[in-house]
Amino acid sequence: MNRFFLPENQIKDQQVEFPPDIAHQILHVLRLGERDEIEVLDNSGRVYQVRLRIDAGEDRILGEIVGTEIEHTEPKVGLTLYFGMTSRDKVEWILQKGTEIGVSAFFPFVSSRTLVQSTDLSEKKTNRWKRIIREAAEQSRRGRLPVLHHPLALASCISQGELKHDLCLIAWEEAGQERKSIRKLLEGFNGSSIALFIGPEGGFSEDEVQKAKDAGCQVVSLGPRILRMETAAIVFPAIVLHELE
Ligand code: SAH
Repeated sequence: MNRFFLPENQIKDQQVEFPPDIAHQILHVLRLGERDEIEVLDNSGRVYQVRLRIDAGEDRILGEIVGTEIEHTEPKVGLTLYFGMTSRDKVEWILQKGTEIGVSAFFPFVSSRTLVQSTDLSEKKTNRWKRIIREAAEQSRRGRLPVLHHPLALASCISQGELKHDLCLIAWEEAGQERKSIRKLLEGFNGSSIALFIGPEGGFSEDEVQKAKDAGCQVVSLGPRILRMETAAIVFPAIVLHELE
């Protein structure tokens, strides 16, 4: 069944109105027609079964809601993945795969060794990245759209991470003996949100890890081998959700 996330105000009184880009996809890419059924999500966690009504002549489609369900695929704990700003293709990979795995929010940062040193993000790129998240969320049957935050300096992310989340984990390959077991840290966890930090290609500096620890982050290992950042971005939330779910 094809599914689409729509802005909440497009769903009113058992009626759905589709924005032009989605109307185009329904009519000309999927070639659906009158009375075909699709699923629509309004980002509240609900899924609506919708029967299409095509307004002939115009590229306008309306839909009639014929059923409502709650989507049960959302993780109970929201994971925010903080990652170093990097090349476009790697960011896109992280957003797509992270959404499939169950990440609730993405937060790019700039640190001493990130490939990209600017926190600027063009509107075009932001829209493209949001579209990648939306399509991955539709494909993987998420009930809510993950949020994409505007990039910030690592130091600001760390102070936020501590304030906004119940637990803050930073993956560091040089942790040695001081690293903590992810399983132990999550045992009996009953909070609602966790911050996960992975470093850029060049890793975190010792100073950055120290500042994270001072702010209350726990240092964890992702195993004895060194993962590329885009691999760590998949493995880290997967391990955490495996423990929680
Ligand atoms: N500093 C390394 C590689 C960095 S890997 C070097 O240049 O050789 C990119 C990021 O992935 C790291 O900053 C860390 O957050 C995460 N990472 C990769 N492998 C890891 C491991 N085995 N344990 C913990 N974190 C790891």
